[in-house]
Amino acid sequence: MESRSAGFHRLMLECGTKHVAAFIRLFKDAGSIPATSTIFAKETMNKKLKFTSLFILIPLFICGCATLPVKESVPVYSLNGASYYSLAALCQARGIVLSYDIFSRTANLTKDNNTIDLMVGDNLILVNKRAVLLSHPVDIYMGMLVVPVKFKELALDPIIKIAKAPPKSSVVLLSSLVKKVVIDAGHGGHDPGAVGRTGLKEKDVNLDIARSLANRLRQEGVEVIMTRSSDIFIPLGKRVEVANNTKADLFISVHANANKARSIHGFEVYYVSPTVSDSTRASYAAKHYYLNLESSCFASNSQVLKAILWDMLYTYNRGESISLASDICRAAGDNLNVRIIGIKDARFEILRGARMPAVLVEVGFLSNVREEQLLRDGSYREKLSQSILEGILNYARKLQLVQGDKG
Ligand SMILES: [Zn+2]
Repeated sequence: MESRSAGFHRLMLECGTKHVAAFIRLFKDAGSIPATSTIFAKETMNKKLKFTSLFILIPLFICGCATLPVKESVPVYSLNGASYYSLAALCQARGIVLSYDIFSRTANLTKDNNTIDLMVGDNLILVNKRAVLLSHPVDIYMGMLVVPVKFKELALDPIIKIAKAPPKSSVVLLSSLVKKVVIDAGHGGHDPGAVGRTGLKEKDVNLDIARSLANRLRQEGVEVIMTRSSDIFIPLGKRVEVANNTKADLFISVHANANKARSIHGFEVYYVSPTVSDSTRASYAAKHYYLNLESSCFASNSQVLKAILWDMLYTYNRGESISLASDICRAAGDNLNVRIIGIKDARFEILRGARMPAVLVEVGFLSNVREEQLLRDGSYREKLSQSILEGILNYARKLQLVQGDKG
């Protein structure tokens, strides 16, 4: 192993003295760097995060300090009319590993299996890959990386809590991992959706299943928001907006299918379409959503960097959407005596703007005589909502397993 000073010199050679000095300043408020700390730098191609620049990692070993009263030990700074904490000081007090990439100006915090990703100049942060909006952007103040004081409550406290949480039963588990779900009953009002041969309307089938699913989720302690709970028309854009604005964990849209070929039947689930590349969508989102988020404190060239965050979010959400879609199909296969077509990538506009795992469930074909008959039956619709619930439960159990396994 290389000595600390040799490592430090290598760091200077690789980064240049100016960067090192700036880098050290970022941490100076956390006290002098402890003697037990190690400083090292490594040039790494972090494929997952798509960061190609130099990554500098400082593990802050402050044994036994996790219970220190943070409020008293972390100074508050006033910047642009808002109160800020030094990120390094917060992390140091809580035993959180902080790494900062000086070139992309992105920081990553890890505590057990939990992560927070953030970027200087941006108020969008990712807490365990889920988007959280801060009131003010992450900033640099007197050479320190600083975060709005709300960061502690919105991002840091939850991951500390998750890290300490004991194993939970399945009921508690669902509501602790999936807190809020938006259920979207497709169509409504003047838009009936598909209409079966005997006159059964898709909008009514969708609404009934959505309501039943909402009740089941509420019984599990999950907060449910419905895009519509009566026979009204809601434009597509508004439906995703509800999910994004309420910061839901999952978005589930319920539809029934139709096809000219009346023999076609079955249950299928769509996840977000990969036809528009993630990076294209990411830069689109970086340009457009951002203007709505009242974040004006960043340089124009940070659009590219912001796209990195959005890209991470989309990539993560697509993986999660596929996982959720598979679990719903599997549960439907266990519970329903119908053909399970499987999961497909969606061409539906409705899923594209969602900033969380999102699926669209096609519960059956109204154009098929047998399936129209089934969908007319209230007890069958209950079985459908039960299957979707079981799919969500299995998805949540896997999330829990992933977190547990890493520990
Ligand atoms: Zn539909």
